[in-house]
Order: sequence, then structure tokens, then C-alpha cells
Amino acid sequence: MKRISIIHTGGTFSMQPDDEGLLAPGNYALDYIQKTVPPLFNAELRQKQLFNLDSSLFRPEHWVAIAREICETYDDYDGFVVVHGTDTMAYTASALSFFLKNLEKPVVLTGSQIPLTMKRSDALGNLIAAVEVAHSSDIKEVAVQFNNTVFRGNRTKKKTASDFDAFYSPNYRPLIQLGIVMEQFHNRFFHSPAGVFEIDTRLDPHVLLVPIFPGFDFSTIIPTVQEGRTKGLVVEAYGSGNVPSDDPGLEEFFKAAADMKVPVAVCSQSPMGKVNLKLYKVASRADYYGLISAVDMTREATIVKLMVALGRFSDLKKIKQFMQLNIAGEKEDEGPAERA
Ligand code: ASP
Repeated sequence: MKRISIIHTGGTFSMQPDDEGLLAPGNYALDYIQKTVPPLFNAELRQKQLFNLDSSLFRPEHWVAIAREICETYDDYDGFVVVHGTDTMAYTASALSFFLKNLEKPVVLTGSQIPLTMKRSDALGNLIAAVEVAHSSDIKEVAVQFNNTVFRGNRTKKKTASDFDAFYSPNYRPLIQLGIVMEQFHNRFFHSPAGVFEIDTRLDPHVLLVPIFPGFDFSTIIPTVQEGRTKGLVVEAYGSGNVPSDDPGLEEFFKAAADMKVPVAVCSQSPMGKVNLKLYKVASRADYYGLISAVDMTREATIVKLMVALGRFSDLKKIKQFMQLNIAGEKEDEGPAERA
């Protein structure tokens, strides 16, 4: 009989209206699930409440705590389900995908748009689907299950706050579709290199996201780079990585980053497609300063990966190398999948 661990971290899933009618963490979910879900599976289901928080309150320490919980109980379970708020689920999924090395079991994040005990809730359906994936699918990676679709976790983005299909993965097709049967797309699954499962949760959160827009005043952020407060930058550029290259502030900004040896990754404001710094003349300044193309990574995965790179390496060359590698299926493969 398989054993599945359900790790609760909070989110709308287990919320209930407080005295003012605002949704806040509630305490009924575990009992409700214990009565409802185990009879559906020929499995031993264990539940653990790690936290009970709105995921907007999550910090990198929460990602680390989830990774540690999985690591400490890794040998006891065949699969893991993480119940999580939708707001920062894509960040947690990205972090777990980098932390859990040589993963050989499914880790499935899920949550809901309507709390478990409110009418028309999607919570129970999402949980049951996630347990089914953790129990019976062949994935051995960190995934997000929502509205009967399973995505690679580090490719996901929250796309809607109003509908049930809260997630999508703009640059990678779904791993599994749960219709009347569970359709698995094996050729899209990630395969970890052979090795002993371990976690590496080192990270440095001093990353700054710079979303470029017409009229952006670069002088507002240059001091944080020059004063050493920012250790890594993610520039969210236009389209395929384009920036206002005639802006002297931009030149000064890139120069400050280069002087301070602060790595700069360039992702795109367009969720679909990829960054190509060699396509337009306006992107050539980024290319000249040796900025790192995020290629087709999401903004969420790029930010978290840069934090992880800064935690693992101090040498700029190694940070760049790590960013360019495909570590956990988070980006298009550009070469041999060496692992730093
Ligand atoms: N604010 C909630 C959270 O992320 C939203 C949700 O769970 O859907 O925890």
C-alpha cells in the first residue's frame, strides 16, 4: 500500500470568513479531509500542518521549511502533496524544484480559489486530483495540479484571481491532463540525473526586480547597486529582451552592476516566447554588458533561480553558468544539462 504525505501550508483552501467577513486561515481542513479523502484511495494518507498562512506572507524561509519537511520524511512516503495558497505557489514550486536534488518521487502543489467548506469550492476536487497524481502518476518532479491539469512547477504562473483555472505554464505544455482518465505525457516529464536524493536550500534573497517601462528612471535604483544592497538583478525587459538603449541612465545602471559584479538576468514582460539578446539593436547594450538571458524562464523562476545561484556561488562566472544551465526543467535546454 502506498503512503502519501499531505503537507498543509495554508492558503484560501482552508480559510474561512473572520468577524469582518475577510478570508483568514481557518482550522477545520485536516479533520474534514481525514473523513473525506482516505476512503477514496487504497493508500495511507498522512497529513501534517506545517503552517497555516496566506501565501502572500511567505518568505524564502517558508520554502526552506517545506523542503526540509520533505527531506526528513522522504523515505517514509511514495509521494508528497503540498497544499498552498495560489498567490505565491509558482515561487514555492520553483524554489522546491531547485532545492530537491535527484528527486525520484512526485511533489504536487495544489490549492483552491474557494475555501473547502464554502459552496462551489474547488478545494476537495483539487486535493483529490493532487493525491491521485502523487499516488498513481509517473512524474518524479515538482508539479502544480490545478483544475485537473498538472504543470511543471517551475514553469507555472498564476493567471487569474477569478476563475478556477488559476495556473498556466506559458512556455511548457502540461505534464498530465486529468479527464475521465489520467492522461500522462511522458515525453514532457523531467528526469533528474541519477544520484542520491538530497536538499540544498542555500539562497540569498537580495534580488531586485526591475520592470522596465517607458520613462523608467534608472537613477532611482542605481544607489542600491552601488551601495552593495542588491546582490542580483532581474530586468524585466520588453518582448525578446529589448531595453531603452539610448537612455544614459540605462548605461549607467548596467555599468554600476558590472562594476559591483552584480549579476543581471533579463527576462521578458511577455509571458510567452523567449529572450534573445541578439535579435534587436536595442538589446545589444544588454548583450555588451554580459547580461544573462533568462531565455524562456518565467519571471518567478528567474528570481528564485538567481537567489539560489547567489546562495551557492560567489564567483560571477559560476553564477552566470548556473543561470544558463537547465537545472530542473525550468528553461529550454541550450546544451548539455550539467549541474552546478
Ligand atoms: N491569498 C491566498 C493565498 O495565496 C490566495 C489563494 O490561496 O488562492 O494564500
